[in-house]
Amino acid sequence: MTTPLGTRIAALIEAGGAPLSVEDYMRLCLLDPVHGYYTTAEPFGRSGDFITAPEISQMFGELLGLWAADAWMRLGSPSPFILAELGPGRGTLMSDALRATRIVPGFREAARIVLVEASPRLRERQAQTLAPEVAHVGVEWVQRIEELPQGPLILLANEFIDALPVRQFVRTQHGIAERMVGIDGRGGLRWGLVPSPARPDVVARLETAEPGAVLEICPAGETVAAVIGARIARDGGAALLVDYGHAGGFGDTLQALWRQAPDEPLAHPGEADLTAHVDFAALARHATAAGARAFGPIGQGELLLRLGLARRAERLARNADAMTREAIAAAANRLAGSGPEGMGELFKALALVHPSLSEIAGFATGEAFADTAIAARGDVG
Ligand code: SAH
Repeated sequence: MTTPLGTRIAALIEAGGAPLSVEDYMRLCLLDPVHGYYTTAEPFGRSGDFITAPEISQMFGELLGLWAADAWMRLGSPSPFILAELGPGRGTLMSDALRATRIVPGFREAARIVLVEASPRLRERQAQTLAPEVAHVGVEWVQRIEELPQGPLILLANEFIDALPVRQFVRTQHGIAERMVGIDGRGGLRWGLVPSPARPDVVARLETAEPGAVLEICPAGETVAAVIGARIARDGGAALLVDYGHAGGFGDTLQALWRQAPDEPLAHPGEADLTAHVDFAALARHATAAGARAFGPIGQGELLLRLGLARRAERLARNADAMTREAIAAAANRLAGSGPEGMGELFKALALVHPSLSEIAGFATGEAFADTAIAARGDVG
């Protein structure tokens, strides 16, 4: 049978007399104040439902921290500046980043640390993790990216955008329809399609697609990219977004993970993690339209190797015993390697920077984003 949140969602659909969009369903499942996944579960780390890059190894947060410090220097070492992270989970990435940047004179002293986190429970977790690193300055939280204080902004995000809800549009024989969540005869949840007057850009892309093609859009992700782009263009700054995703294409990428195993997305509302692959081309389009320059997306492996992953791994292994050395090598492989076990190619990184910066660490100048360069419009699902 379904979950308490499933029962509530079915009642909501029944009372409203209309199905929910995938977007509304996903938002309820993840962030419902009482039964939402991020509100109630401890999803990260080795015992949780999934393990994210910062939880695999301290090297991830360290290298991203050094990226942030390098960006800060390229921007002229503004003081003060906002050092922000979106969706910090357990706070591991920021903690590793701050520790690694102790060697950069002035960086930590100039930073006002602000975390964007919707879950009160995870805020507490982040406060615990960060306590040793922020004793000198403290840390602030905001609920939404729009609430970040003004000033030059250096922002990191890992696996944040893939938790933002998507809408799904389908090319059918009778025109464009939106995929919805309705109820079956017995009060359970089921998928459905409703004819939809979609956005012009969605219509334009689906019109020429194969019948059955699915196009996902992530309105909240587009807003995040546009807000970052506008902020950076106005106040100066740089952002690095890392996530599971692609550079534009068709396909249903909504995924559920329940007790460490793939699940049907309607089966355990509020108990399963729901994600969708990130469309980096859409993010780059929205950020550049708002005034920022974009680089990438490139593979996470490429980024980490260029930022010095191999050297960092070697350094950590130098005085370690054989077992630790092996674990460090395995972690580096997992973070940067290709293939199904590796995150190096499946995960991608996009940098958004002030237009005055023609270069940024980890990205080649030829990797500046140009929409016309994204020729691949194949399947992503
Ligand atoms: N970055 C972390 C955690 C990723 S999980 C890591 O790599 O381990 C996604 C994080 O984003 C969680 O902290 C979750 O509570 C937060 N989150 C999800 N949706 C959000 C939203 N709409 N607004 C703010 N935070 C959100």
